[in-house]
Amino acid sequence: MHRSITALILIALMLGWAVPSARSYTLQFTDASSSVHIRWPTNSVTIALSSSLASPSANIKPGSDVMGAARRALRQWAAASNIRFVEVSSNAQSISPSAGGDGISLITVANTPENVALFTSSDRPGRTRVYFDPVTGVISEADIALNPSSQFSTDGTFGTYDLESVLTHEIGHLLGLEHSGMVGATMQPRLALNGLYTLPAFSPRTLSEDDRAGVRALYGPRTGLGAIGGTVSYAGGAPVYGAHVWAADTLTGRSIAGSISSQNGAYRIEDLPPGQYRLIVEYLNGNVLASEIASSGGAYAGLVNPQAAFRATEAAAQVNVAAAATASLNISLSDAQPFLNPRLLGINGQLSTIAVPLEPGRTYKVYVGGDGLDQVNGTGISITSPYMSVDSSSMVLQQLGTPYPIISFNIRVAEDVPAGDYDLRFQSNNGEVSYIAGGLSVDEVGSALLMWLPASDSDEAAEADVNQSTIGFNGTGEDAGATIIDPYLSGESFALGSHYAARRIALPGSARAGAFTLIPPTAEERLKALVEPLVNAPDYLIRIGPS
Ligand SMILES: [Zn+2]
Repeated sequence: MHRSITALILIALMLGWAVPSARSYTLQFTDASSSVHIRWPTNSVTIALSSSLASPSANIKPGSDVMGAARRALRQWAAASNIRFVEVSSNAQSISPSAGGDGISLITVANTPENVALFTSSDRPGRTRVYFDPVTGVISEADIALNPSSQFSTDGTFGTYDLESVLTHEIGHLLGLEHSGMVGATMQPRLALNGLYTLPAFSPRTLSEDDRAGVRALYGPRTGLGAIGGTVSYAGGAPVYGAHVWAADTLTGRSIAGSISSQNGAYRIEDLPPGQYRLIVEYLNGNVLASEIASSGGAYAGLVNPQAAFRATEAAAQVNVAAAATASLNISLSDAQPFLNPRLLGINGQLSTIAVPLEPGRTYKVYVGGDGLDQVNGTGISITSPYMSVDSSSMVLQQLGTPYPIISFNIRVAEDVPAGDYDLRFQSNNGEVSYIAGGLSVDEVGSALLMWLPASDSDEAAEADVNQSTIGFNGTGEDAGATIIDPYLSGESFALGSHYAARRIALPGSARAGAFTLIPPTAEERLKALVEPLVNAPDYLIRIGPS
């Protein structure tokens, strides 16, 4: 536990105040008027799978089922909406240039100069280039490339991106979706590496309700579904641009879908199953930042400029959604200044901006960091769901010397919890409310979360495995950033890389047992190893259209 606390301190210190906020499913528009969606003209889209998927380059772990991952990723979106993919194969390796497409929508993993040129660093695992008509918004082509400089796998290998998760996210862009502010959504702007929270990063393989609502809004089926629409305004009546508005199902507490208000303050959450919903509005400066929703053009481009902050607000009335109807709800914010801003969360001794995956029937110690949390007591923490409960007596204000408070508390997850995304709600002693929208993610049964166990702590691993032919070093904990010296290799040493990067070192034989020396990292080394991977730059859409 000592190790976990150390990791928390360092991550929190490093992230400091600079971590921005998030939003929910977002449709793309051709311009700032938000009147024309970007979408395919029909419900049938032909996708060319590059031959590179069958013979992937060295950045993809040998033996990975690349073709299967691509097909499963396409199937996720087809199952959620009235979109159909026609699969063809292609010998093409590179995506089309920005100057113009070839009419073939390609998914490629090839290591070609054209694909390499799409990426400025290895922490953007994939990109999608979408060609559309600037007047009608009709997509004519969309190409997806995985970053040849990033490491991928399909089996949860530490420190690699999950190939299927990345493809599922990019196919969302291919269909016309922008990034979402719902932390648990596949279309959230950041993708975790395997090993975050010492778990495989498989959650984005499965669409959240927010993703499903987004794709249904573009391609149907609309039958049997309803919508909520209205405006968000400041206390003085001015429209709120870039507010995250989301709807949580009152029966289960699951957050179903959200949207981002446009320049005139209007929001619209489409394709909601009939039922009763709670509506919540937040300023995007937490796990997802408003600037991460901004495209190079379209309705949200203006979000690169900060908007006036406001307190999260829960609509006083619940909204009844009926099939084929739009319920109306306008939301007026108070002029009280916001102080409470939970922006990081985590389990297993790590803090991040990625939703934490929870399993039914278990109790978790959850950490949350952010401004004003020292003004929240145990009874001020809640999850508005009958399937999850917070043990208020378990709340601890961590004394970590961070520039903002970090608290921990226990959450109990019911055995019969429905799969979906759940919100964490905080209320400070002066009554201010703040949320982490969709920060708790329960994956569907059958997800592969249990397929591997978290690697053990490096010291214990070294001790336990010392007579084995390999030693596994897991950088999670205070040894991240440590230097390992192997005297049998002329004193060769290496660093224990990032916090999620496991190093397995092949030993020629048991004669070398005990030969390793682990030099504890300096504070600076540890900080670098722990924090850098957590602040992945979001990928973003390349829009070929008006800027
Ligand atoms: Zn993206």
